[in-house]
Amino acid sequence: MSCYGIVQLSMPVKDFPVAKSVKSFDLPVEVDPIYDANELLQRSGLDRSITAADLLDGEFDLINVYRLDMEIPCGLADCRTPHKSGLLGKLADGRLFHVGRVCGKTKLGHDFAIAQRKLEATQNEIRLRRDITAFVDDVPVKRRGVQDLVQQERGASWVRKALQEWKRVTPDGVREVMRQKARSNDSKVERVRQRSQDEIRDLLDAGLVKTRSDGEYESELIGNFQGLNVLLADPHRDHKLITNNLESLENLNVASLGLGQLRAWKRWIVETDEATNRLRHAIEAGSRFFTPENLALQVEVASTDDDARTLRETTWQLAVPQAIAPQKRVSIMSEKERARQHRKIGGRRRKKRRAA
Ligand SMILES: [Zn+2]
Repeated sequence: MSCYGIVQLSMPVKDFPVAKSVKSFDLPVEVDPIYDANELLQRSGLDRSITAADLLDGEFDLINVYRLDMEIPCGLADCRTPHKSGLLGKLADGRLFHVGRVCGKTKLGHDFAIAQRKLEATQNEIRLRRDITAFVDDVPVKRRGVQDLVQQERGASWVRKALQEWKRVTPDGVREVMRQKARSNDSKVERVRQRSQDEIRDLLDAGLVKTRSDGEYESELIGNFQGLNVLLADPHRDHKLITNNLESLENLNVASLGLGQLRAWKRWIVETDEATNRLRHAIEAGSRFFTPENLALQVEVASTDDDARTLRETTWQLAVPQAIAPQKRVSIMSEKERARQHRKIGGRRRKKRRAA
């Protein structure tokens, strides 16, 4: 058997024409795997009368892989073993065939396995190059998107300020409890009350508790904290990370990168996307956490009277002004205007009084 495909596939990928636009890649292999059985079986040129012997005698090339969610019989006429994953190949005369991953290896030999590995490596590299190119082309749009996330009303910048204010005004002990609740994803707010001796006796008599100490405390669900996750967020760090990564990616010459570099840059892209998602989640959680109702619930987790008093005395609207109420434009009146306004109101009142 001779596999002319091997020679073709071992060509360094950087010699392939790499277009800026993904659609115009002109390559001897297909880039995206086939996932749909019909798409595979209805390919024009597919010949399911080809046998393993035909392939061993002739020349062929592997051009794609398929991974289906259902089993199909092998494309080799003398095999037909059901399988879900395999390879699409092309004979020198242009006919297509498909063969299962396992029977390809057992019936077509070592060269087939090598050709398969090379095909998959080539496809991986092309996909990496394509994904990175698409990301790099999209950097200006992504940059505007992140700027919007940060600057929008109650966006990441607001969340950051709100977090700073929360740290400033919340007693240490309460802050630690709140963070612990966020880490363990425990949003419940319970109030614990000690039962009277009579109440405990009633519970014992009714068989609702076994021992006196089982019935000593009653916990009542007061509510649930909303958006607790925001306490674990660091919108400033994520914003900086995204900005730095976008700056590095923006001027990347993708065509000049080797496989190792492509893999490294792909990690930068994944990291950038993850940080962007964290930013979105922080904004979403922040808008639910930093409300007066939600913040007022913190009194319930205070472990000392001092902390509880501090929290009760904190007027959240005042303590976290920008956080609770996004700054409204307030026109600043001059002293003269203020005096005129005052006289007007006073005048109206006086008229009213006179009319009455
Ligand atoms: Zn087979």
